[in-house]
Amino acid sequence: MEVILSECLGFCYGVKRAIKIAEEHADGKSCTLGPIIHNPQMVERLKAEGVGTVEDLKAMEEGTIIIRSHGVGPQVYEEAKARGLNLVDATCPHVKKAQLSAKELAKDGRTVVIIGEKNHPEVKSIFEWSNNRAIIVETDEDAQNLPPCPKLGIVSQTTVSGENFVKMVTHLLGKSSDIRILRTICTATDQRQKAALELAGKVDVMIVIGGRNSANTTRLAQLCQSKCKTYHIETAQELKPVWLEKADKVGITAGASTPDWIIGEVYKKCQRI
Ligand code: SF4
Repeated sequence: MEVILSECLGFCYGVKRAIKIAEEHADGKSCTLGPIIHNPQMVERLKAEGVGTVEDLKAMEEGTIIIRSHGVGPQVYEEAKARGLNLVDATCPHVKKAQLSAKELAKDGRTVVIIGEKNHPEVKSIFEWSNNRAIIVETDEDAQNLPPCPKLGIVSQTTVSGENFVKMVTHLLGKSSDIRILRTICTATDQRQKAALELAGKVDVMIVIGGRNSANTTRLAQLCQSKCKTYHIETAQELKPVWLEKADKVGITAGASTPDWIIGEVYKKCQRI
């Protein structure tokens, strides 16, 4: 059986940067606001190194609060300052761009639409930068139901697929005669998705590695599933030999928040089967 790694997989620039920043502040007094990335194994490793996690700023009396790559709304910066905390911003620059785009569109008096998942922390942060005015469009129905408006501004969650973005924008085109579209999709996501789709078209089984709470990993698994039998796992322990019994070729990809060491373990286990 041949085991093939996707040409583009695992940690993206924004995640590598956030983890590096967190590790530089591993002094036992630093915490990330929410898990640094959507990967429980990485969160555990950081905890062991001296970077904890809090879900609310109120849980911190002192020390350093690290903003993760998904970013937060402007009020968190103000609250951290008011509480006397040292704020270290590891928001991915691509997410920052989406946040500032939403802010700019709202300031320009536009109805702001964010194409993305309603409950995703990154989308919530972009929403808050729009002065809490944006409308989040997740489904075809959401887009079709948007009322007409004089001025419309569109941004997207960074992990939205190019195809989905175009589809949603197409639904929205008739909603206003003055539309500004800012395609705030991150190329890391596009690259991982294209490489995964290409590989999934050449193999019998795809293994997609990453947190079950990771939106971009879940999306990778959905895309691969459209080409071949696909399994989404978090760790090598979850990989079942029976899945690969009849396969001649197995492909592996991983979300942007999946550490290299986990990809390596899965790769080795596949090779042993
Ligand atoms: S996927 Fe893109 S936007 Fe998200 S953290 Fe990585 S580089 Fe940044």
